[in-house]
Parts: sequence; structure tokens; C-alpha cells
Amino acid sequence: MVVPCSTRCGKNAILKRPKTGDALCKECFFWAFETEIHNTIVKGSLFKRGNTVAVAASGGKDSTVLAYVLKLLNQRHDYGLKLVLLSVDEGITGYRDDSLETVKQNRDEYEMPLKILSYEEVYGWTMDAIVKQIGRKNNCTFCGVFRRQALDRGAAMLGVDCVATGHNADDLAETILMNILRGDIARLQRCTTIITESEGSIPRCKPLKYTYEKEIVMYAYFKHLNYFSTECVFAPNAYRGHARAFLKDLEKIRPSVIMDIIHSGESMSLRDDVNLPQRGTCSRCGFVSSQKLCKACVLLEGLNRGLPKLGIGKTSKANRILEETKNIDFKALADF
Ligand code: SF4
Repeated sequence: MVVPCSTRCGKNAILKRPKTGDALCKECFFWAFETEIHNTIVKGSLFKRGNTVAVAASGGKDSTVLAYVLKLLNQRHDYGLKLVLLSVDEGITGYRDDSLETVKQNRDEYEMPLKILSYEEVYGWTMDAIVKQIGRKNNCTFCGVFRRQALDRGAAMLGVDCVATGHNADDLAETILMNILRGDIARLQRCTTIITESEGSIPRCKPLKYTYEKEIVMYAYFKHLNYFSTECVFAPNAYRGHARAFLKDLEKIRPSVIMDIIHSGESMSLRDDVNLPQRGTCSRCGFVSSQKLCKACVLLEGLNRGLPKLGIGKTSKANRILEETKNIDFKALADF
């Protein structure tokens, strides 16, 4: 059955928007999708004219769509931004090496400069080597902590004003759900804000915060964007996987559940009696940390001492152990 586009543009609808249920033609879907992101950028004051913005680019659908749409909106609305791509190479054979090839194609197609920073050059370890040492259980903890810091370092090297990440509404709803299930209200507050910034680090923003994952896939498909869709060989992160499956089930019955959870998370995080950790700087690498040593340095110390589990769990506990054992050479003990 032919359904007319609900904007009354005169064309036939070819899709039903997952977020609103509207029947739209391709052009009206593009317009609605791009305009919503533009409104998010304007309402959240994400950028200032003259800013240099690094798009955190993995080669996946989210960051590819983000780079494409930011370039388009920058031209359409004359934001006055300089856009660059920033990628982190975790050193995962069969995954990141391939996805970085897609980022390089995006660099050429979108004419944006690209900087790639690898775990190997920053930490002296690749994820392949880390997994060899620690196994497949806590690999995402290492990878997530190292990536956050590597992005900060790359942004500082590029001298950008802001890093735009491709976190979408589904990612955010999952993270909110996980933080609620863990009772971690401090993290809940941080994850719901559209711009995260702490003293001494470059702000990060999420222009796709209210954009549904299904619509990102549709947009990339209809625009014929070139992205990499293989999952990491070291996935899955089991806890997030459960939260994702739960949300997908709920979404089938009630598509608005993603936005509902985001709005609930935003309202909960408005409480002013939440104790947020005091931010300082890591005594070793100088990056932002609420402990003497930041999480990345603790994890790295554990790897280098042959104690990979040291940084898993509370960073404060690991800091205490490191302080108490700072003169002990564990590697030598193990060899002995
Ligand atoms: Fe890193 Fe885990 Fe993501 Fe793989 S799944 S890229 S190991 S965080």
C-alpha cells in the first residue's frame, strides 16, 4: 500500500521513523534527522564559532555519520568550525586495523585531516598483548580507560577546543540503565551531561545524544556512507550486553523507551546532594584524576609489574596497595 509522506511534501513514504513512527520519504527523513542534530548542537551550545573540533572516529556507523553530518551542518548553518578526525588504534588485529582503513577513506572523502594515536605509542602495550596477559575477562576495562585517556592526549596534541564523540541515544540509555543498576549516581550524572569537561582536560560533547541507533543505520544506508560494521574480536562486554538486550526488548513494545530513560536519567542527575569525586591530577602522568594515580597509570603499573588484576575494581584500593608496595619488584619475585 502506498503511504504519502507525513510532511505532505507530495512524495511517497519509504520508511517509518523508529523514533516518532512518522511515515517519511527519503528527503524528509534526511531533513528531520539532520535538523534534530542541529537543534541538539544549538540548544546545548556545543560549539563556538572558530572552534577546532576533533571528531572521535572509529570507522563505525556512529562516528562516520557524525563526521558526515557535522561537515554538512557546518556548511549549511555556517558554524565556522574546523573539523578534524581523531582515531585511537587499540592494536586489535582483525578489527581496528581494518576499521582504520575506513577512517582513512572518510578522511579523503570528507577532506578532514586525520590523527591516529596508538596504545602502543602511548602505553607501550597493544590490546592484543594485554589480552594475552590478562585473558578475555577484564579486557574492556583496560581498553575503555586507555581509550578515554588516549583521546585526551590526541586532542591535546591537535590543540582542538572540543572532542565530539558518536555516542547515540541507545548507548546513553544503556549507560544510564547500567549506572542505575549499579547505584552509581556520580557516574549517572556524568554520563547524562551533553558536554563533559573537567579542569585541565579538553571538553567532550555528544551531538548524537538524542539520535536513535536505528535511524543512524538508516541514514548511513540511504546516504551510502562507507562504514565498518564488524564487532570487536574481544567483545562482548557482558554487563552492557544484558542492558542492551533488555532495552531492545522494551523498545519493541514501546519505541519511546530510549528517550524516556534518557529523560529519567537527566532528571535523576539533577539532584544536588550527589557527592562527586574531587578532581585533581595524576602524580605520574598529569592527567585528570580523583586519586594520586589515575586509573590508566594504575592499570599500566599492574601490567608492567605482572599484576594485571591490580587496577580492576576500586582505584583508591589499588592506589593504597601501590603505595604500600612501591619498593617491591614483583616481576623479580615471580622470576625467582
Ligand atoms: Fe576495546 Fe572491549 Fe570495545 Fe573491543 S569491545 S574495542 S576490547 S572496549
